[in-house]
Amino acid sequence: MNSDKNTNKSGPKKAVEKKRPVPQNLICPECGKETDGLVKNVCRDCFSQKFNLFELPLVLHARVCPQCGAHYYKSKWCDFENIEEIITLTAQENMLFHEDAQNVSIGMHPHPRSPYIYDVLVDMEADVEGIKLYKDAKTEIRIKREACDMCSRRAGGYFEGIIQVRAGNRTPTKEEVHQCLQIINDTMIHQLKKGDKLAFVTDSMTFKDGADIFIGSTNAGRHVCKRIIELMGGSVSESYTLAGVKDGKEIFRTTFAMRLPEFKKGDVIYMDGKVVEVRNCAKRLTGINLLDSATYFTESENLKDAKYLGNVADAQSAVLVDVEENAILVLDPVTYETVTIKKPISFNALAGAEIMVFRTPYGIFAL
Ligand SMILES: [Zn+2]
Ligand SMILES: [Zn+2]
Repeated sequence: MNSDKNTNKSGPKKAVEKKRPVPQNLICPECGKETDGLVKNVCRDCFSQKFNLFELPLVLHARVCPQCGAHYYKSKWCDFENIEEIITLTAQENMLFHEDAQNVSIGMHPHPRSPYIYDVLVDMEADVEGIKLYKDAKTEIRIKREACDMCSRRAGGYFEGIIQVRAGNRTPTKEEVHQCLQIINDTMIHQLKKGDKLAFVTDSMTFKDGADIFIGSTNAGRHVCKRIIELMGGSVSESYTLAGVKDGKEIFRTTFAMRLPEFKKGDVIYMDGKVVEVRNCAKRLTGINLLDSATYFTESENLKDAKYLGNVADAQSAVLVDVEENAILVLDPVTYETVTIKKPISFNALAGAEIMVFRTPYGIFAL
């Protein structure tokens, strides 16, 4: 019996042993055959047959969210690349290995029987007591479609914050509200891809003064407002209201009071003694000085002193009386007096034509 271990060793020792006659007393108690060595008291064949490398249940269940594809794994919902990964992991997780198995290598071969049932062939090779053993087994994995925490929240109208889209001292235009909604959607998709599962719009309402957008994630809300300011200008302030208590923790909702800039493209304003047609107003305002057609810009924070005069949409048509070297004469559409105004750069209308002018308390300007 003491010779068991020695006879099992591979390599040169085996070669040496071969020269010796097979000891007569080594008979396998299991099958009765003569053997050159016993492993755990039986011959190698009997050992290989009796040894169970792993156990695997015949049927397994995997919980997968039909909305986002998350898989319930180790008591929480996790994201996975694809369904095969979930299938393989479910099989692996439920395999019970024999503790004596060493140098283990496992193969997993999933085959879909239907979109919700997979057959998985599992094979394993390992060393036990110096003997290479092999086993394969099959399991059936049934996919249970179940909404994950985040998707059920979404379906349940969950929201952490409200983005209130307004504009400073005016009503945002329909186009502006539409642009904001577009930015919100794009940013939510981006944040969702980055792993914020609550980055979704729960509900949105548009009305005369702007729009209220209910959002699932406060963090995504911050990204949204930052993006709106980058693209459209304006400012945001955050405030918090207690929405309730859950598991002893206070739950707050965030209100993002988003203010679009007071001036928008096409507005005509009086600023620094100049009449300016606004071209763009984000972090800074850029426009055209209507007196000399020069480009004008200022930081948005300086706009507190700006005076709104109207929008180019309110321009009136006037008859061009004469064109001089540096000036043009037009008939004031209101007083019918002839007024001389500075000739804009690249002005090419001829006398008698109708041109668009903008009347302001600071004079008439040709557009
Ligand atoms: Zn045997
Ligand atoms: Zn989900």
